[in-house]
Amino acid sequence: MDQPGLADDSAEPVDVLIIGGGPAGATAASLLAARGAQVLLLEKDRHPRFHIGESLLPRNITLFERLGVLDQVAAIGVLKPAAEFVSDEHGTAAAFPFSLARDPRDRFAFQVPRAAFDELLFANAAARGARTLQQCRVVSLRSAPPGGRALVHAVAADGGRRAFAARFVLDASGRDTFLAGKLGLREPATRHASAAVYAHYRGAEFRTGEREGCISIHLARDGWFWMIPLPDGVMSVGFVAHPALFKGREGSMATFLAAQIEASPSVSARMRAAERISAVTATGNYSYAARTSWGEGYMMIGDAFAFLDPIFSSGVLFAMMAGEMGAAVAEAWLTDPRAARALARRAERRLRRGMSTLGWLITRINDPVLRDMFLSANNRFGMRDGLISLLAGDIERPLTARGPEFAFKAAYRMLSALHRLGLRLHPDGDIRRAPGDMLAAGS
Ligand SMILES: Cc1cc2nc3c(=O)[nH]c(=O)nc-3n(C[C@H](O)[C@H](O)[C@H](O)COP(=O)(O)OP(=O)(O)OC[C@H]3O[C@@H](n4cnc5c(N)ncnc54)[C@H](O)[C@@H]3O)c2cc1C
Repeated sequence: MDQPGLADDSAEPVDVLIIGGGPAGATAASLLAARGAQVLLLEKDRHPRFHIGESLLPRNITLFERLGVLDQVAAIGVLKPAAEFVSDEHGTAAAFPFSLARDPRDRFAFQVPRAAFDELLFANAAARGARTLQQCRVVSLRSAPPGGRALVHAVAADGGRRAFAARFVLDASGRDTFLAGKLGLREPATRHASAAVYAHYRGAEFRTGEREGCISIHLARDGWFWMIPLPDGVMSVGFVAHPALFKGREGSMATFLAAQIEASPSVSARMRAAERISAVTATGNYSYAARTSWGEGYMMIGDAFAFLDPIFSSGVLFAMMAGEMGAAVAEAWLTDPRAARALARRAERRLRRGMSTLGWLITRINDPVLRDMFLSANNRFGMRDGLISLLAGDIERPLTARGPEFAFKAAYRMLSALHRLGLRLHPDGDIRRAPGDMLAAGS
């Protein structure tokens, strides 16, 4: 991990050094600074900068309140009252309004242009007392000896090198996974692989009425689309599928995205008058996690620790939750490392549990049985309401309150058995033999 650089004694001492000024790093910096810790936040880019991940969850709202930024987020965002699933195969759509979520705090969320969102979170960290440096890339880290400080080297835009001696390091470097990469801790998910291609458009059809502002997830033959309404008539459109489909494409990513849009009846119908107003970007978004999220004097938070397929718009929520937990661990480390280790262990357990709750759905998103369940109006045993709560980011229910989730899984197993016998759950809630084309498409 080490690299030759400035000598240890020229390094500037800091209590907590944070690598990366996205949602995870900015959240941790804001909370630490507000509690009086001496914190330095280093960001390799300059805000505002483009980032993907524009649809937020209701569970983000309480975090915004704690950070004091709810009004600012509301001012740059589009109110999101629901998530909607649209299926090309079923020829129908189902809405999941947050007004039906089990927790009354989960009534709405926002969709945001990430450049503005990340900029305001970063500025908030500075306003609360964190020292922030932009265009300053961390390039090496030598871990702390017991009771000592980690030596961190960074390079500024003008090529100047900086050295810092940090008592605790939070790695919030996103998908760069600075520490997990250097320590060889990053492990790809074995059960799910996906890649994404996306762009911004003007002139796409926006939902109106009760569905105004909602995210639309269009389930297509080879994968799924997001359609996320943003301010000023901009629609974010992305297509996610197995990486093999991307590798086998002919032509550019722009041609590939246009062809996928054209091939989906429900998406192409909304995109007839749309004009692309951004470059087309592709991300291999193979999910991964680090084997451990923390060690002596450091912790990885947000995408720097783990990345989950984005279908449930959970990335920013996990990043900000981890930012909050990371701040608590860092603060404890400064006075009581034993307590900090216990907090870090608990934080990792919470994050892994939340990710595995959503992971169960994510690994099955292309399964026809799960798709049937999403499109069915069925609320037997409160399954649908339980699903709405998961879509709201309510992923930390105690075992005793997880009945609807368990009922949903039991129903899935029962419907999977029926599917093998040629029977399917239909959008009207009935279970009957599928019409030939539906069964063929799903089997
Ligand atoms: C295709 C796709 C669609 C997505 N859609 C959604 C969605 O709809 N909703 C949602 O909630 N999430 C979504 N996500 C996930 C979301 O983008 C991330 O989970 C979220 O941005 C994680 O925040 P973070 O702070 O951990 O990392 P980031 O937001 O990536 O921030 C990391 C920061 O660290 C900086 N950095 C990196 N290395 C260094 C270094 N060495 N030195 C200094 N700075 C460094 C980077 O410049 C960056 O600013 C999506 C992701 C993908 C790939």
